[in-house]
Amino acid sequence: MISYCPKCGKPVSEGNAFCPNCGAPLQAAQPVQPTPQPQPAPQYNNRFMNQPQENQGPKPDNHLVLSIITAIMCCMPLGIWAIVLASKVDGLWNSGQYAQARENADKAKRISIIGMVLGGLYVVGLLIYYIVILGVSLADF
Ligand SMILES: [Zn+2]
Repeated sequence: MISYCPKCGKPVSEGNAFCPNCGAPLQAAQPVQPTPQPQPAPQYNNRFMNQPQENQGPKPDNHLVLSIITAIMCCMPLGIWAIVLASKVDGLWNSGQYAQARENADKAKRISIIGMVLGGLYVVGLLIYYIVILGVSLADF
């Protein structure tokens, strides 16, 4: 019996596993070269489509305002650090790096709060210092 090569269309004898003309695998040899199974594709698609829904949630507050206040009012180095982190939140979020965006937002918030506490302590310390100086000055007179 004669069959035809699916690739080049030349007649080939059925016993051949490969086309003698172009080397393409013939029908008998098809199981050797399995076509991609359709089953894994939907699984992958489902995972791919579910992942953002599972992880996305509401976009985290980037705490940029808090960071700027920290930089201006309290502690400049910590504030700038927080601003750098906060400014990356939106970009990370938009490019799908949700965990990273949240982490940056959390860090920016923590650093801002630390900066504000340090700034507050500094102001309180300064006040106490002046009160003590004032007290000592008054005691001298
Ligand atoms: Zn062929």
